[in-house]
Amino acid sequence: MIIVMNAPTAEETARVLEKIRHSGLEPHCLVDRGKTIITAVGGADPGRSEQFERLAGVERVVAVQTPYKLASREFRAENSVVAVGGVTFGADAVPIIAGPCAVESYDQFRETALGAKAAGAVMLRGGAFKPRTSPYSFQGLETEGLAILRTVGREVGLPVVTEVTDPRAVELVATHADMLQIGARNMQNFALLKEVAQAGRPVLLKRGAAADIQEWLMAAEYLLSGGTAAVVLCERGIRTFETHTRNTLDLSAVPLVKHLSHLPVIVDPSHGTGNWRLVGPMARAAVAAGADGLIIEIHPWPEEALSDGPQSLTLANFRQLTRELAKVAAAVGRTINSGKGGQKR
Ligand code: PEP
Ligand code: MN
Repeated sequence: MIIVMNAPTAEETARVLEKIRHSGLEPHCLVDRGKTIITAVGGADPGRSEQFERLAGVERVVAVQTPYKLASREFRAENSVVAVGGVTFGADAVPIIAGPCAVESYDQFRETALGAKAAGAVMLRGGAFKPRTSPYSFQGLETEGLAILRTVGREVGLPVVTEVTDPRAVELVATHADMLQIGARNMQNFALLKEVAQAGRPVLLKRGAAADIQEWLMAAEYLLSGGTAAVVLCERGIRTFETHTRNTLDLSAVPLVKHLSHLPVIVDPSHGTGNWRLVGPMARAAVAAGADGLIIEIHPWPEEALSDGPQSLTLANFRQLTRELAKVAAAVGRTINSGKGGQKR
């Protein structure tokens, strides 16, 4: 059960909390834009919600049956629209985020950013802290990478998203990025989720490679219950028996999660396939399936990339892809959010 209170007094909130505890339930309180949202967990009886509706300060009571509460469609019937520096996820326009796997140098990131913008991307990606399978692989430029990300983002006039891998780095990353990314490997790093929830930034939450949909939505619940107002989910492929692709991109997750949750869902066809030849077809399929955005790895010289070259599109291939995506989007009643710097079609 979720109890939404509109600008309640301290006494009104205390009364509701007391009544919840008295009913044998555990309250969890969150203040968001003037509303106090109280989640009461622990075998709520649906009939009980009426008793709360009558209490002073209570706007509405929603009986939510699923374990994820704030992330559920039951709690919010309409699609959530997440805004990041003028870019919106979950509205009619489908934004494209593009950039290299990792920020490698100022020149590499600037060249990529200019190519991304010219092709119609409206947000930049680029890793500064890279979670690599091998400790001997390039780990990212870390603090220097964050500075490059921020500088180039401002120079080209696009917001930036980057991954944060350590609770101790959240504050630092939040001062450089418009959106914080939780990577697949950290989807269930609960200490990190709790810290990121407090950072006051929108969050891009990737699906863990072995996470089912409920676990993914429960990770979103950590963010929402911890104070994040804006969460965008990202399907990036799951691990299956198939070895020809890096991951198996689960596009059925897009319509399914949009049915279960009000949160926007975007798709990462780069990590989802691991192969640049498959990125375009899967990006087109994602838009056809209702994705609220795409995040695509691109590089001016993929053969020289320090990470994920095999799945990175060249700037020319990316430009071609955004043209094709505009047609797919139109076919499903949407548009590609190509921003002001986008190419002419
Ligand atoms: C990334 O986006 O650079 C990344 C490491 O992705 P994932 O967490 O999905 O593997
Ligand atoms: Mn990558």
